[in-house]
Amino acid sequence: MAGTSVAEQRWLQAAREFARRAFPDGEGPSGTEPPLLDVVLRRLRDVGGGDLPLGYSFISISDLLHQQRMPCCSHLTWSTNEFKDWAQQGQGALPMQDALPRAYLILVAYLTDGRQENKEKLVDGCLYVKDNTGIIPCELLHLELEWLGALFLFPSWSYIPQTDKSAAGYVEILVDPVPVNLLKEVPDTIPVSFPASAKPLLTSRIPCKRRSKLTVAGELARRGPLLCIRHKSFFFLFLKCLISAVWVPVLVQKPNQLAWHHSLQLGQRYTITGLSISSLKKSGQRIFVTGVSSCLLPYCAEQVGEQPLDNACQGESTQSSSLETAEQLSDSLELGVEEKRTGSTRDSKIISYVGTVTKILNVQAGLFLLDDKVCLCLAYQQLLSSARGLRPGACVELIDVHLLQKPLVSFPFVVLGACLSSTIVLKSFSRLSIPYQARASSGNLYLQLLFRYNLDMSLYLWLVSLLEGFEERFSCFFGRRRLLHSSKHQNPGAAEKFLVPLLQAAVPDREEARDIYDEILAKAHQCPLQKYLTMTPPCQVPSLSVICRVAVQKSWEAFSPSQLLSPLEAQHMGTQELNRRLAWSYCTLSAGSFQPRLILQGVLRVSSRSSSLQLQDKSSMLPCVISHKDGSPFAHTSLIGSLLQVESYQLVVERFFQTDFPSWEHLENLDHVREKKYSVYVQFYFEDVQVLHAPEGQIQKGLRSGSSSSLRRKHGSSLTSELETSEAKMLKLEDPKPDTHTAENCQGCQSSTGRTNCVSRLFLVTQKEGLMLRNYQLPRKEDGKGPELQCSFQATVLWLGKPRLWSCPREIGNLPELDEMDCDGEEGMTQEKALLLFMGKSLRWFPFLHLDGLYCFIVPCCSDLEVFHKLCCPPMPEKSLSRSSCPLCLPVQDTWHLQHEMWISCLPECQLAARSVLTGVEQRISSIPEVLSNGFTGSLVSFSGEIVERTLCASPKNEKPSVTAGLQKQKGILLASDHIVKLSVSVAPGSPAVVDIYIAPTYLQHLWGLLPGAKILFQNLERKVSRFHNVYCTYIASSCVSIIGLPTSYLPFSSSSAGETSPPSLVFLSNLQSHLQHLSQARILCHVSYVLTLSLQWVCSLCSSIFKEGRCTRHSPPCPSHLGVRQASARVLVEDGTGEALVLCRNQHVAAMLGLSLLDWEALQNCVQSRGSVSIQHEETTGMGCVEEPEDFIACYIRSLCRSPLICRPILLDFSLDRKPSKILQPTPLQLRNFRCGEVEFVSQVGPRLSLLCLNVEEVEQDALNYLNSERIRRTSSYC
Ligand SMILES: [Zn+2]
Ligand SMILES: [Zn+2]
Repeated sequence: MAGTSVAEQRWLQAAREFARRAFPDGEGPSGTEPPLLDVVLRRLRDVGGGDLPLGYSFISISDLLHQQRMPCCSHLTWSTNEFKDWAQQGQGALPMQDALPRAYLILVAYLTDGRQENKEKLVDGCLYVKDNTGIIPCELLHLELEWLGALFLFPSWSYIPQTDKSAAGYVEILVDPVPVNLLKEVPDTIPVSFPASAKPLLTSRIPCKRRSKLTVAGELARRGPLLCIRHKSFFFLFLKCLISAVWVPVLVQKPNQLAWHHSLQLGQRYTITGLSISSLKKSGQRIFVTGVSSCLLPYCAEQVGEQPLDNACQGESTQSSSLETAEQLSDSLELGVEEKRTGSTRDSKIISYVGTVTKILNVQAGLFLLDDKVCLCLAYQQLLSSARGLRPGACVELIDVHLLQKPLVSFPFVVLGACLSSTIVLKSFSRLSIPYQARASSGNLYLQLLFRYNLDMSLYLWLVSLLEGFEERFSCFFGRRRLLHSSKHQNPGAAEKFLVPLLQAAVPDREEARDIYDEILAKAHQCPLQKYLTMTPPCQVPSLSVICRVAVQKSWEAFSPSQLLSPLEAQHMGTQELNRRLAWSYCTLSAGSFQPRLILQGVLRVSSRSSSLQLQDKSSMLPCVISHKDGSPFAHTSLIGSLLQVESYQLVVERFFQTDFPSWEHLENLDHVREKKYSVYVQFYFEDVQVLHAPEGQIQKGLRSGSSSSLRRKHGSSLTSELETSEAKMLKLEDPKPDTHTAENCQGCQSSTGRTNCVSRLFLVTQKEGLMLRNYQLPRKEDGKGPELQCSFQATVLWLGKPRLWSCPREIGNLPELDEMDCDGEEGMTQEKALLLFMGKSLRWFPFLHLDGLYCFIVPCCSDLEVFHKLCCPPMPEKSLSRSSCPLCLPVQDTWHLQHEMWISCLPECQLAARSVLTGVEQRISSIPEVLSNGFTGSLVSFSGEIVERTLCASPKNEKPSVTAGLQKQKGILLASDHIVKLSVSVAPGSPAVVDIYIAPTYLQHLWGLLPGAKILFQNLERKVSRFHNVYCTYIASSCVSIIGLPTSYLPFSSSSAGETSPPSLVFLSNLQSHLQHLSQARILCHVSYVLTLSLQWVCSLCSSIFKEGRCTRHSPPCPSHLGVRQASARVLVEDGTGEALVLCRNQHVAAMLGLSLLDWEALQNCVQSRGSVSIQHEETTGMGCVEEPEDFIACYIRSLCRSPLICRPILLDFSLDRKPSKILQPTPLQLRNFRCGEVEFVSQVGPRLSLLCLNVEEVEQDALNYLNSERIRRTSSYC
């Protein structure tokens, strides 16, 4: 080798090494060059015009697989300019994409269909390039069958790795390969039958007498897609008679023949040998079937002898494949717009189309975007490998595909659906540097559901959109595969649990399987794509961020101040009161409030920061409130990390608005809403939850003892059956969030036997306090700073039994401690109390820990039974008595797992003894009448009740601005600090006993679900008595609430109280004394005696000074207000025969009490405007100086009105007790007094006058009066 340069020698050396690795016969015996390399080098010189390509290097398949991470292409003979031109042309369709970068690599490999590789492996029709180092799939546009098995030099190719870099890519062969050795000769054949004569063989019912194999020749009219059914791959091809339009189907099914699919070219003429006739089982249709020895040969006229022509068959027409251009497509699109009708079934049009792939919409679902305007759907073709070449930039020809205009309302593109009669031909490869996304052909849920439910295109596209959203939202939690895995009916995966019921509802009658043979072979075309309907989806499953956004938007659209306030009330309100009444409102949305119906999905998480339950997806999170229909609190620790689906829920949007409406007349102008804050959350019942996926790592608890399973049964009776069987009994040791701590914690925690130990201990919660900042320090903090307040909560618990050691968390059984309790009885019970302190990450147990619950702590990776004692502070002295008054404080560690076992009320009867011991220490829950009664002692109270009203009041600290105002703003507190929330809570709706609870805005941030109609357990509220002897409660730092029932019926867009629906109960004034303290609202039939005082005013809307002649009368400092508000008040004495009462009436009730019509009332108030105020006093009440000016005719008119006997009439009065009466009621001795009722006068014994607030006045008709009077007499007599 004289004259070769050093570079060339080095190159040759590398070539030899390559050949040694890559070629099967390896190195020669004496180290001589393998002859194969010589041939390869000769071919290289041929291709390169005599020179060796020294700038290129050989690459083996294995190196390509393992070293090439980016797409690349190699063109052995091209100049730089040639390459640039090529690349530039390829960018035409997608100028933003980079072209394939050029690599200088020589690929020499065998081309194979995979047959020889592995007998086990399914030969699926794919082609491969291989050498001794490996094998890799390849795609080519043109294949000659004799190429298979031969060694080639590939002058032009690109390597396309997968987007998932760990998986293998494939090779696109851009130019026909150059054979290294000479190829085998094509065998000759002569006897040929043409389709026109072959057709009768198929159509005649007489079985073919000749057993011999047939040979058929014709033009390839159609090439069906490669299909794989029950692990058998096959395809159909259709040969057309060279002279007539007759065609015959040929089934190609032998593994060695599947590669034909790549070499067949439409319109070319072929001869196929070794065919036999077979008939399909179902339809009996007869077809040609290839045999093992069948060959596909190019048709060559000289090789063929005479062919008999069957003229009878000539008349038969077949489906013609017209090749439409893009213009024709757009023509048909325009046509479609004209005849667009939704809601009715339409026929799809069959067209052909050539286009460039511009985007892969969803490779799993077989959706590709062509030319940025039409969607190609290959799903109905099953597409096994053909998607490989379909990268953006590739050109495809679609023959006989269905054109569907708008199968789904929300789908933006026209769809070209390829059915089993369509042919998809890859015309050119993409020149863009875009990796390919592999599609899983097995376990592809899109295709499985498509075929299982025989979906049409509308439903399929809807299914795709649902699955795409599902995958996008939740695969970051569970992994794509786990989420979408399908397991053929048994134990369906999360996606199937979600989708199958929807599909079954959408296609109740479409479970019959597709007859694919019929679709391919039937003379009249039939397939699922022929007819379609523009579908409006029956439901939607948007992401949580979308749900929140839409909910807020709906809530804002529904905000109507004039509906929140009755105009009768609002017109008398000053600015401050008006705006305070609008500062909080809410609206509730259900699944049906959305169009279409909205299904909620999310992973249940618990935030240790906010100590609240949340539903999460990738986009956002939504706080949630979960209740049980039986009123027990939600405590399913096992559900953490599970993917939940809820279709019945209340999505609540609480609105916290700052408004500056000057008066009620401006309520329509929403510009006065200055600041909008929303709190969005969802509440639902546990019973309405469907668990789509429970996270792995949950450990199935064994059901070991019979007694404990009976215990379970009692407890879990309200569970859905699905939960009861599996998920409910799972134990989860880790936080669902990928947690770096867990791994550390578990290191070295295994016992010497190599097993993971854990310790558990059972306890009963006897008291739970709310979240608050406490002066504890986390033990981990070492930064030496001063004590920092830590958010924490604490619970007093009673340990039950001893700690237990488990060799594996899986083995934790069901409460053996409870069995012990039974034996030991009261004496043996160790009543050991502890104060559990939850801080930091353990705050996540807050929503799960409830009073009267039996829980178990599980300390993972621990074998120390003393762990609960050792951590106590102060450390427990050896002989300390557990009954000491001061319980030990145990900080709950981050790694501990809490598991809810049951409620104490659910303990079976055999353990009643234990229960009686335990209930002795229960925290007392009072009833509302108990709380209200005078005899109640104790400052902290717990009780449950239903919220009847939620309103805002002026904060008592209104005058002096709070020091922490700045801090509050930072923390995003929703309500201005000059407001305070007042909840009126009663035992049941309509019940007279009502207690008011005041909650400062600081606590509101995490108090969800405090809405009218909700049933709430309030714990540790502070009970207070006002100076008017009214009992009320305030929410303090250690208080907490649990929602035990959701509002059943709600007025979606108002915050009005529930008491409006039914009139209050009819009572007697004399009866009121006895239950004075807790009466919210009642009604009496009474007689108006006389009007004590009456005052009509026009007051300033800002400062409440008198407003006169359009100006506020306040002068120092001057008030800028231009708005006056009309106000009226009156004190009226009424009696009902059993007692007297002083009724305070305001505003519109004054008019009703005086019996004035709205018009008269309006006129009267207008007269007051020029005067500012007019008032009168009844002369008999006081000898004090008169306020009114005697000459004022308005005053005179009012006075005469008040004296008129017309006013003294019977009325029905709805009232509440005036909780702040002007005079504190003194117990006075009973007096005898005269009363008049109509014409009747009688004497009665009366107590002191009551002070009442008028809520409503109704006139009584004579008939009604007679009835009520008789009723009254009947009832009074029964009292006497
Ligand atoms: Zn079709
Ligand atoms: Zn003023």
